[in-house]
Amino acid sequence: AKGTGRDRMRFFDPAMQLAQDQRMRLLSELRLATELGQWRLYYQPQVDATRRMIGVEALLRWQHPRLGLLLPDDFIGLAEDSGLILPIGLWVLQTACAQLKQWEADPHSAGLPIAVNVSARQFRQPDFVAQIVALLAASECRPELLKLELTESLVLDDISNTIDTMLALKVLGLQFSMDDFGTGHASLSYLAQLPLDQLKIDKSFVAKLPGLAKDETIARAIITMGLGLNMRVIAEGVETEAQRDFLGTQGCAECQGFLFSRPLPIDALQDYLDKKAQP
Ligand code: C2E
Ligand code: CA
Ligand code: CA
Ligand code: CA
Repeated sequence: AKGTGRDRMRFFDPAMQLAQDQRMRLLSELRLATELGQWRLYYQPQVDATRRMIGVEALLRWQHPRLGLLLPDDFIGLAEDSGLILPIGLWVLQTACAQLKQWEADPHSAGLPIAVNVSARQFRQPDFVAQIVALLAASECRPELLKLELTESLVLDDISNTIDTMLALKVLGLQFSMDDFGTGHASLSYLAQLPLDQLKIDKSFVAKLPGLAKDETIARAIITMGLGLNMRVIAEGVETEAQRDFLGTQGCAECQGFLFSRPLPIDALQDYLDKKAQP
């Protein structure tokens, strides 16, 4: 019957209402975040076998006035659902290109590529290639130093559209990395069709290396596949020397993870670069 405790629970669950209110509040704050300059780009170093920095991945943070520094997991879903990921994603690309241009002036950082995560909605915009063309012209950065990280679900959603867009961007000079490889459904045949420069082993396969036979096999297979298709292979989430040694022995010398550095704000990354550059 109406008005029983159970029905009230269903319609007026205070915890659910609170979560909903918080989501609405965060959404209205998200709408203003770009205008209010609350985005920060952090940079995580990528290193080779000699620990030399060979590039960085740009990772988005939200400097929230009330809640502090927020990680993508706290707001990317909301940004994607609301479409706000489009202006935010553009800000990320603009900031990365401006950083590339600035780095060119310093021999310590010149030639260092930046990898940027691109969401499906962003990549599928009909004018995405035109946006990149405009961005490259405005920032005067070297296109070869801009690398886009795409996920398996993005790529597979419309493979022929994906390939067209990738090829148009490759003509401009951009590079592509397959992010989180192994977590989705991309098969070997799809992978071979895509004009990829790099394969990124997801951290979920790295976490239990070495020791877990299943994950050792998966990591080995991904490395063999990537190298066999003439791609560079990089592992993310590398936290221990043992993980690095195992990956290196299997032919994956390029790594990214807390073992080398956490994602850093630009000032800290600059210090890291300057220190490493000293003899
Ligand atoms: P992702 O692209 O897989 O990025 C790697 C994540 O692993 C980052 O989390 C990074 O901080 C974290 N990580 C790095 N090294 C280690 C390690 O050694 N151990 C562990 N446990 N984690 C490590 P973060 O920064 O929280 O980003 C989460 C996700 O948010 C990213 O996953 C990416 O999918 C998304 N994201 C980040 N920035 C952007 C952006 O600008 N645009 C879009 N569309 N998505 C972004
Ligand atoms: Ca990534
Ligand atoms: Ca990942
Ligand atoms: Ca991811």
